[in-house]
Amino acid sequence: MKNVLISGASVAGPALALWLHRAGYSVTIVEKAPDLRDGGYAVDFRGDVHLGLLRKMGVLDDIEAAETNMGATSYVKANGKRIATMPEDMFAGDVEILRGDLARILYERTRPYTEYLFGETITAMREDADGVTVSFEHAEPRRFDLVVGADGLHSGVRRLAFGPEERFVRHLGLHCAVFTVPNHLNLDREGLGYVTPGRVALMYAARDNTEARAMFYFASGSLGLERLSPDAQRRLVAETFAGAGWETDRLLAAMDDAPDFYCDAVAQVRMESFTLGRVALIGDAAFSPSPLSGMGTGLALVSAYVLAGELAAAHGDHEAAFARYQEKIAEYARGCIKQGDGVAKFMVPASKAMAALLRISSRMMPYMPGKKAMARGVRRTAEAISLPAYPLGEGDRAAQP
Ligand SMILES: Cc1cc2nc3c(=O)[nH]c(=O)nc-3n(C[C@H](O)[C@H](O)[C@H](O)COP(=O)(O)OP(=O)(O)OC[C@H]3O[C@@H](n4cnc5c(N)ncnc54)[C@H](O)[C@@H]3O)c2cc1C
Repeated sequence: MKNVLISGASVAGPALALWLHRAGYSVTIVEKAPDLRDGGYAVDFRGDVHLGLLRKMGVLDDIEAAETNMGATSYVKANGKRIATMPEDMFAGDVEILRGDLARILYERTRPYTEYLFGETITAMREDADGVTVSFEHAEPRRFDLVVGADGLHSGVRRLAFGPEERFVRHLGLHCAVFTVPNHLNLDREGLGYVTPGRVALMYAARDNTEARAMFYFASGSLGLERLSPDAQRRLVAETFAGAGWETDRLLAAMDDAPDFYCDAVAQVRMESFTLGRVALIGDAAFSPSPLSGMGTGLALVSAYVLAGELAAAHGDHEAAFARYQEKIAEYARGCIKQGDGVAKFMVPASKAMAALLRISSRMMPYMPGKKAMARGVRRTAEAISLPAYPLGEGDRAAQP
């Protein structure tokens, strides 16, 4: 049986494990976090391609059961008065779920037949004609037939195999911090956003209104802040939003107690080639379209399916499979990345005039004739691939002995 090492246990990694298991592979996943990373922001799936894939994976019911059921999002003034409301059907996908809940569903599904090593990372890879010898931070070196990087924007596998991050990561001029806060405004499946030049603060209800998420987007000249320690990042967010108005001080006061503080660059990954030798990249590691595109999670799933499917179709001939994977996924990924272009500048306006323009256009947006066309465009991007019926079986072998 061929064995594959995957780096990253979020969305793309466990999804690939599910498919590779059905193709008869043995899978090990290393995840640098000590445990599965829970919490986090909401992500969505849209269109027949995403939903069809979730159905085939056998996880759609679980995902629907954990749906956020979020309603409208409104922009507010400093005094909290709502000035523009965007109904949920304007931007939301067909199913929305917290990223941590999704990761948990995929983890639980794949755990019976996948070796998970938490608190572990790959430190070196040496490839020869028959496989790859992989060194780890803690475990002894091991041999694998293939290695897949599903380790996100700052992929360690990408750095080791393809080169430094600066070659592939394109900063969109923003950083984002997100963390759990008490739902002190008693928001009912609702989101609120407060815009000032170069800064946007959001709060939205989560987990049946029992808690909420605070999200801070802020203009940042360059990459690098994401490498600061979490404490230094918290200080930076607090300084950037100090006295900004609305509920920001209260949200910031909850930041130190948040169990899931997360801060990263808003960036894209652009690569020409997603495979090299016996190494392949999927999900954000290969082609992050940015958090603002609304496409990253769907793309992560699609890429996992195509990679596993091509390996199954090529009967394990990884060279043939990787070439077909590249061919099949490149254009779809380009479309998703394009969807993320330009959103950053619009969403976090740089000047007072731009902020006023955002407020006016959001007020008008629900009545604009083009709004349906906009939503259709996003859906078209999500559906712009026809997925072959690969020989991957229909059910988890472990679940159906
Ligand atoms: C604030 C925010 C909002 C978002 N909103 C949306 C949305 O509305 N819709 C949408 O579709 N997408 C959204 N996304 C994007 C979405 O989260 C990602 O596109 C998706 O999670 C990609 O999954 P992934 O598994 O490829 O990577 P990730 O989810 O980034 O997971 C990578 C995993 O690899 C681990 N890892 C990293 N380095 C190493 C290493 N060296 N060794 C071992 N493990 C490592 C990480 O700990 C992590 O668990 C958003 C993202 C953010 C940050």
